[in-house]
Amino acid sequence: ADKELVQAEKLSMTGKIARTIAHEVRNPLTNLTLALEQLKDEVPEDVEDAALYFSIIKRNSERIGQLITDLLNSSKPKDLKLVRQPLNGVVDQAVALVKDRLKLQNMQLDQVLQSDLPDVALDADQMNIALLNLLINAIEAMKPGEGILKIASTQEDDRIRLQIADNGKGLSKEDMSKLFEPFFTGKTEGTGLGLTTVQNIVRSHKGSIEAESEVGQGTVFTLSFPV
Ligand code: ADP
Ligand code: MG
Repeated sequence: ADKELVQAEKLSMTGKIARTIAHEVRNPLTNLTLALEQLKDEVPEDVEDAALYFSIIKRNSERIGQLITDLLNSSKPKDLKLVRQPLNGVVDQAVALVKDRLKLQNMQLDQVLQSDLPDVALDADQMNIALLNLLINAIEAMKPGEGILKIASTQEDDRIRLQIADNGKGLSKEDMSKLFEPFFTGKTEGTGLGLTTVQNIVRSHKGSIEAESEVGQGTVFTLSFPV
């Protein structure tokens, strides 16, 4: 438990540092964008490749801006609109949004949602974001034609448990220890902010999230919420 505490503190420190940096980057980024607009007005149109370079600067500034927005959203405490409702309904909604993707990649869906589960206090929009992040990660980890996505909900004492399991590439022990850290990504185009966001949303619901994984076998995320 000591180790977990140290880990939790480390993560919350990382979050604080990330938020501070994000705020500090935003102002100079705004100044840069404004200065660029000025410069654009003043540079004669026949300057070679000017438009190209302007568009590169603009695109990259926007990318930084988006990253910062994502970063801030990933770790700031959520102001939730909680409504008591079935978790299964929110799961169905999120799964519906990835059905096309599953079909397109020839992946199987094995969904076993226990009926008549007690309601959970949920912010459906936020939970949808969290579940979508997990589902998309799972799909991206699996091979087309071989992927099996398993989703199961059950009750355990006074908690509802939701499992999202894939038979994708899995994660090494070392990667597992960084899984929820901001900016940890194994993808060339990833931000590494998805699971930070997911963890933040789940914790805001007084829930917990754990991951188990085996390289080459797959990964299971287990979420648990108080009823
Ligand atoms: P991103 O998807 O932008 O990379 P995430 O925070 O969502 O960021 O995930 C971080 C990393 O964790 C991913 O890049 C991937 O390497 C790994 N990961 C997440 N979910 C899974 C999964 N279901 N199976 C294998 N690896 C995963
Ligand atoms: Mg992701």
